[in-house]
Amino acid sequence: MRSIKRTSLIVANWKMYKTIEEAIRFVTELIPLVEASVPAVYLAVPFTVLHEIAIRCKSTKIAIGAQNMNEHEEGAFTGEISGRMLKEAGAKFVIIGHSERRQLYHESNELVNKKLKKALEIGLKPILCVGETAAEREKGDTIKVLTTQLRHSLADLTSEALDNLTLAYEPIWAIGTNQTAMPETAQEIHHFCRRFLDHEWGTHAGQTTRILYGGSVKPENAGKLMEQKDIDGLLVGNASLSVESFEKIVNYSNQHLTI
Ligand code: PEP
Repeated sequence: MRSIKRTSLIVANWKMYKTIEEAIRFVTELIPLVEASVPAVYLAVPFTVLHEIAIRCKSTKIAIGAQNMNEHEEGAFTGEISGRMLKEAGAKFVIIGHSERRQLYHESNELVNKKLKKALEIGLKPILCVGETAAEREKGDTIKVLTTQLRHSLADLTSEALDNLTLAYEPIWAIGTNQTAMPETAQEIHHFCRRFLDHEWGTHAGQTTRILYGGSVKPENAGKLMEQKDIDGLLVGNASLSVESFEKIVNYSNQHLTI
């Protein structure tokens, strides 16, 4: 049996924020503040800052990645960016299937699946986002929605491929709303995801896949979330835009590690 230990991870998702100058200022301040943290630190940055920031973060605790990529190798796809371009620019990982991409740009599970396969093929570590809307939650459909998203987004991937993938549970009603999921509720959903992976891909996948929580994470709730058994890390939007709050999230998480 392959043995891969789950490791903790805090990811910043900068969305469409920060110019090159602002990004340089951010990482220059952040690097010394997170050097001693146990969780790995990833920054998902805009395409325009990726190369510069990747150079500045070389040989530090911080890995740089992107927030999206195209599913094709290359071609006539105006305005798109390929995984190979991202990798050459210094990306180590890529977020795929973020709810803003699914909702605003109509990305389906099938498209997400193609993007995941391409990322894995070229050696970019994908972070797959899944999560239900407020209406789906109110109808009691959370598990049904997650099952569909996981089944179709991960279709045809081997359990070896899952070794290089991180899953992020991001309830859509919690993103950018200040309405964080209760740590116990998030734990239940993470546990469900682990059982699902277990069932479909075998115990190894269930036990070793890293699963993050995302949705209005702040310094005040990071510790409690990280204490949950099946939560291996956090995906942070708004609170990752200032060094002050992001550094606190990384360092509070450090004190509440359960893996
Ligand atoms: C996100 O964009 O993935 C996210 C979790 O945002 P926020 O932390 O702002 O809710």
